[in-house]
Amino acid sequence: MVRQIMCIDCGLRVYDPEPDDLGPTWNQRRVKGTVRRPVSREVLRCDRCNLELPDGTTVIAITHWLNEPRPLEWELEYIVPV
Ligand SMILES: [Zn+2]
Repeated sequence: MVRQIMCIDCGLRVYDPEPDDLGPTWNQRRVKGTVRRPVSREVLRCDRCNLELPDGTTVIAITHWLNEPRPLEWELEYIVPV
């Protein structure tokens, strides 16, 4: 499983992965929300461009998974869905 939090600009540029002709395609879940930083984290940054994401910033959380059950909603630890 791959978990990423991205700023809006980066998140909107990420689409479904290219289908792999030889195997199954990855599942993807996208959740848009505002940052609610866990107390354990000093700062959240975009996983693609490293932009700092202060509390309240609108972001997109993206999860990819393959050959495993649908992941738990880890996003809710970091964002409030909108
Ligand atoms: Zn970014």
